[in-house]
Amino acid sequence: FVVTTVLVVLYTCLFAWRTSSQQARLQILASRDPLTNTGNRRLLEVELDEASAERARQECTLAMLDLDHFKQVNDRHGHEAGDRVLVDFSALVLQTMRRQDRLYRFGGEEFVLLMPGTHLVAAQALLAKLQSAVRAQLRCPGGPVSVSIGIAEARAGEDWSRWLARADAALYAAKRDGRDRIVVASDEFSGALDRRRHDRA
Ligand code: GH3
Ligand code: MG
Ligand code: MG
Repeated sequence: FVVTTVLVVLYTCLFAWRTSSQQARLQILASRDPLTNTGNRRLLEVELDEASAERARQECTLAMLDLDHFKQVNDRHGHEAGDRVLVDFSALVLQTMRRQDRLYRFGGEEFVLLMPGTHLVAAQALLAKLQSAVRAQLRCPGGPVSVSIGIAEARAGEDWSRWLARADAALYAAKRDGRDRIVVASDEFSGALDRRRHDRA
């Protein structure tokens, strides 16, 4: 009886441990982008929600980053070369950002960098450093690859989708003004993310 009981307890513990470690693995897989190992859009939405809720306690700035003329990289050098640039870019951002910063792949060659506890001016300085590192180090087989950046600080009581849309509108302005630059979002923003994407396409 004792031996059977011990075996049952051991087996139960082993089963519980395997289930919880599998669950943790699944959770990681469900929240990461498989190519760049950055956070995926699902995780971004959860963490934007949290950052918005925290807004009263601490400032938070986000940046939308979009690689310039990325379609040409694929067209001229192939999809694999494009993938390599995405991986290298993510690694470069991870090297440059601080412990509290969070990087997500928003889709395609667009990324979001969330900077908790950081106001606009400090974020601008950090992103200028990142942009210089990209200029100096990010390469595809055809030469350097640059990035355009739109930034916005969260406002009290602002919905995170509007916060994101303000950063996205700033990114659009950076593209329009010649690319490879940083534009700070204005407080005024009227329009939808989808409309901007449609306009740009
Ligand atoms: P802009 O400077 O205006 O941002 O121009 P762009 O060429 O970077 O932007 P556009 O939206 O025209 O093209 C984005 C390209 O990104 C098109 C698509 O084929 C490519 N892309 C999206 N996801 C991936 C991916 O996972 N791997 C690779 N290699 N390419 C991707
Ligand atoms: Mg692009
Ligand atoms: Mg894009």
